[in-house]
Amino acid sequence: MIGSSVVCRTRSWIVLCLGLLAVASPAAHAADCPGHPDALGTSRTLVVDPREHPRIGTMQYRETLPLKDHEVVLTFDDGPLPKYSNQVLQILADECIKATFFIIGGQAKANPEGVRKLVAAGHTVGTHSMTHPLTFDRMPIEKAETEINGGVAWTSAAMTDPSRLAPFFRIPGLMRAEGVENLLISRGIQVWSADFPADDWRHVSPDRVYQLAIQRLEAKGKGILLLHDIQPRTVAALPKIIRDLKARGYRIVHVVPATADQPATPTTAVEWLLHPPTETVPIARWPGVPNFVFTETRMLPAPSLVDLNTQTERQSLLPHKTKAQVDIASTLPVPSRDLFAIPEGSVEVLLSTTLARRAATRLAMAAETPRAAKGNAAKSRGPRTAHAAQAKGAAPKSAGPKSAGPKSATSKSAAPHPTRVASLKKRAQ
Ligand SMILES: [Zn+2]
Repeated sequence: MIGSSVVCRTRSWIVLCLGLLAVASPAAHAADCPGHPDALGTSRTLVVDPREHPRIGTMQYRETLPLKDHEVVLTFDDGPLPKYSNQVLQILADECIKATFFIIGGQAKANPEGVRKLVAAGHTVGTHSMTHPLTFDRMPIEKAETEINGGVAWTSAAMTDPSRLAPFFRIPGLMRAEGVENLLISRGIQVWSADFPADDWRHVSPDRVYQLAIQRLEAKGKGILLLHDIQPRTVAALPKIIRDLKARGYRIVHVVPATADQPATPTTAVEWLLHPPTETVPIARWPGVPNFVFTETRMLPAPSLVDLNTQTERQSLLPHKTKAQVDIASTLPVPSRDLFAIPEGSVEVLLSTTLARRAATRLAMAAETPRAAKGNAAKSRGPRTAHAAQAKGAAPKSAGPKSAGPKSATSKSAAPHPTRVASLKKRAQ
């Protein structure tokens, strides 16, 4: 996919014009699908720069493709496998849908023709490692690099024009690891997760694949759908998914990498978030103090006793001082606006203080618990143990002279003190 100019030169100028039209005209869809008037079509082409947004897909990352509501990107992993990949290709062709395929190097090596078919059909082709190990999250980085290189080498080798390979990579099993991501990013390769899968690699029915695809899409309203073009259940479910996408008003977006000739589609940073903050989304920012009328004045009338729900006729109920104070000030200064201003971050500080206090309380309780447990254990040991303790002279010492009276809570709470002192002495040694 790199160097579309090369593609345009080597292919017919009609392909070039159609490609440019697709980029320039977002409204190009069903009507542009000859012989298939009811096709879903591809509504627009989104050009992305991997260096600007290196990790995408909300299943794992903060950012995802800058799609509008009801826009969907179809992705297929693990191919090409002629038996099923060819059927997927036909279904997409009948609907004039452009998708993104993540190729396994081993599959490309075994079936290079399958890769060429994808490119010829105008789909985007990225890679998905050499042998699809599900250990990217724990393998040595050198091995990960060999896997990445193998996938890229065999997929591009299968292409007539290797520049058509997109710098897009999906980690097998989405077993992400920071080292792997950093390696890919340093090479200008975009790491693709997804926004929702349809579980089509599991032993579920095609109908279940269809249901999951639609339900999960409906939950997010837009996004990258992860499918596999090597599964019979995906082949069976795909037409129904596409029909339903159309019925529900979804539009397909084709994603291609930016090149020198084809700059990235202009976007803003918030568009790369699945749900950018809006007026209807609550945010953790304290609201400003409203501009009340009283802020115009400098003094306010002091509250009278009546305002305080007191009965002036029965002032004897109140201390005399209060009555005297009433006459001191008839007005009070208006509190300044600053008094109500809560600086940004104060809520977090307050929360953290509260949490710290709770944590301290928990620690104190935890410290008490062993002592309480010891006390209980002493109790449960029964009278013989207690007597033994008394015989050793511990109890009289702990009780002290204050506990000469009737047995009280004081004597109970004082009981553990010798243990603490003893332990402290021990520590001091
Ligand atoms: Zn895979």
